Amino acid sequence: MISIGARGIKVRNLQKMLVKEGYLLDKREIDSIFGPKTRAAVMEFQKNNKLKIDGIVGDETNREIMFLKYPNFSSHEFKCKCRGAYCDGFPAKIDEDLITQLQRIRNSLKRPVIITSGLRCERHNINSGGVKSSLHLKGRAADIRSPGVSVKELGKLAVNINSHGGCGISYASFVHLDTGSKRIW
Ligand SMILES: [Zn+2]
Ligand SMILES: [Zn+2]
Repeated sequence: MISIGARGIKVRNLQKMLVKEGYLLDKREIDSIFGPKTRAAVMEFQKNNKLKIDGIVGDETNREIMFLKYPNFSSHEFKCKCRGAYCDGFPAKIDEDLITQLQRIRNSLKRPVIITSGLRCERHNINSGGVKSSLHLKGRAADIRSPGVSVKELGKLAVNINSHGGCGISYASFVHLDTGSKRIW
């Protein structure tokens, strides 16, 4: 977490993003010091992303910053589907490696990749029949489909691309992808 008064490389990277996205207008603002202008820019970023506007870069803001790198995915697609019944939608941090794999699949397919299940809180995982140790609980798994692409075809591609993680390719309507150990089922 960083906020006003912080210094160093994390502030520098934050300021670079803020310049790139147009929240800081001048490259001279990149001074590695979290001052009032940086704080104001962070608050503007939070406002535009419908986050809590506190000028503090914590988990929520970091998550939205991370997603800037992935043009075809947004954090909302990963939200727990209990729809606020048991959690705020983000019970765990989303593993960036998972998003990287999904973006690579998306780039290869050149078609939309729809996340049917991303994050799950414990209660929603139980309700949806997930195993107790499901990587969906840890933000390290996503179930996906792609309209017009067969599950078999999508599974084959997932196995090729997500070569170091797990792929569940025997389900009827989706392919499961995770960043756990290499497994195919
Ligand atoms: Zn939930
Ligand atoms: Zn799954």
